Amino acid sequence: MSEIALLPAVETFLAKPQRLFIGGSWQDATHGRRFAVENPATATVFNEVAEGDEADVDAAVAAARAAFEGPWRGESPARRSVLLYRLAELIEAHNEELAQLITLENGKPIGNARGEAASAANIVRYFAGWPTKIEGSTLPVSPASGAPMLNYTLREPVGVCALIVPWNFPLNMCVWKLGPVLATGCTAVLKPAEQTPLVAVRLVQLIEQAGFPAGVVNLVTGLGLRTGAPLAAHADVDKIAFTGSTQVGRLIAQAATGNMKKVSLELGGKSPNIILPDADIVRAAKGAADGIFYNQGQVCTAASRLYVHESVLDQVLEELRRHARSHVIGAGLNSTTTLGPLVSERQLATVNGYLERGVAEGAELIAGGKRPDHLEQGHFVEPTVFLDRAERACVAREEIFGPVLTVMSWSDVDELAVRANDSPYGLAAGLWTRDLRSAHRLAAQLKAGSVWINCWNVVDPASPFGGYKQSGWGREMGKHVIDAYTETKSVYVDLA
Ligand code: ADP
Repeated sequence: MSEIALLPAVETFLAKPQRLFIGGSWQDATHGRRFAVENPATATVFNEVAEGDEADVDAAVAAARAAFEGPWRGESPARRSVLLYRLAELIEAHNEELAQLITLENGKPIGNARGEAASAANIVRYFAGWPTKIEGSTLPVSPASGAPMLNYTLREPVGVCALIVPWNFPLNMCVWKLGPVLATGCTAVLKPAEQTPLVAVRLVQLIEQAGFPAGVVNLVTGLGLRTGAPLAAHADVDKIAFTGSTQVGRLIAQAATGNMKKVSLELGGKSPNIILPDADIVRAAKGAADGIFYNQGQVCTAASRLYVHESVLDQVLEELRRHARSHVIGAGLNSTTTLGPLVSERQLATVNGYLERGVAEGAELIAGGKRPDHLEQGHFVEPTVFLDRAERACVAREEIFGPVLTVMSWSDVDELAVRANDSPYGLAAGLWTRDLRSAHRLAAQLKAGSVWINCWNVVDPASPFGGYKQSGWGREMGKHVIDAYTETKSVYVDLA
């Protein structure tokens, strides 16, 4: 296996501890604290980052407020668009650098990290087109007085936004939120996950380089409780956008009630993926394997429940076994690796706990199920497939956030949607078939924010993304997210 060399720019970046970015200046945390960043492939610390606390959160929110009420408000939509296009170019120009940082701190294979950085540039470019297209309307009101009345609506930026993001797509999750913030004219305090702060630091350096005014984007790195919680509760934050676990999402929603912040939540999932008997089975099994093993299964839309028609079950299990065994497990910086480590020791412990419980609760192990023999260090686990005919084991019902697939068989199509919908989550669902009628009927029945037919994990900035039920509140992407970052003002003008 050949490990790729780190770029000189990455070596230089990592030579120093990282700092907070508040009101246009890079600074240490008020109380001087720092936390360590670990490489999950080796379980060794390779950089340190400022650990912000309430004092830093206060300063960052004040800077975001000042920019929102001041210079940023004065910038034209065309200017916001120019700045966003410039940022997209910078992300594209620094693809390899950003990708290496992603792999170092998150562990994912370098090819996937390059893909994430390329996608980040596309997303920013999509949002760069929006500022000049956010418009109100004129409405045909009928006042009782009969007075001639003009009514029109204005769409105005919601204000200071707190953005709390997770570690699984450490760059993309930042731009999913910063794109609409910057397009609509809001300002932000960004808090990346403590496992993956580095690529967020580099992104914010590029935001500074693109020429956004001081205070428009502020970065407070730190821990969930000491940094995230005061940000979520802050009385001068107008909106909070969060991606992460349903458990923390619930805390965020509660914290937001203090000043009735607007809230967007992208939370967990346990997404059903259905193979119908008439599907292209080889393609469907490959899709099912990729849907769960991609990003080491650390994806909120992971295709973690697979429902296979009983007539093709043996064939699908054989294909899944083959896919699981064909993965090259190793450090993400090795160019041949297809499955990297999990992000942290804690995540590995969680996944291992599920593997043990799955077996104890009667699920049958089809592939994987343990640490790979050849890797002694790092947070590695084999891609794993369970068969759970009774559909009662925890691995069939709970979000694992690891490369663990649970397969169930089905025979009665009328029960299928009921079984697929029997989950507190509703983020994504998929189905594999050649039959148009079954495809569209099932797509309508599935309670999920995204339904993928003969594909999985297709996400596009033009199309809404988000969850039913406990998978979240609101939608990201497309025109839907522009609504989520703007207030609508109705203006009446008496023309009498
Ligand atoms: P995971 O469990 O996978 O690490 P979390 O939902 O805990 O995911 O974390 C997602 C983000 O939420 C991270 O940036 C984390 O620091 C932050 N976070 C965790 N706990 C809290 C909290 N109580 N309040 C605000 N943010 C939090």
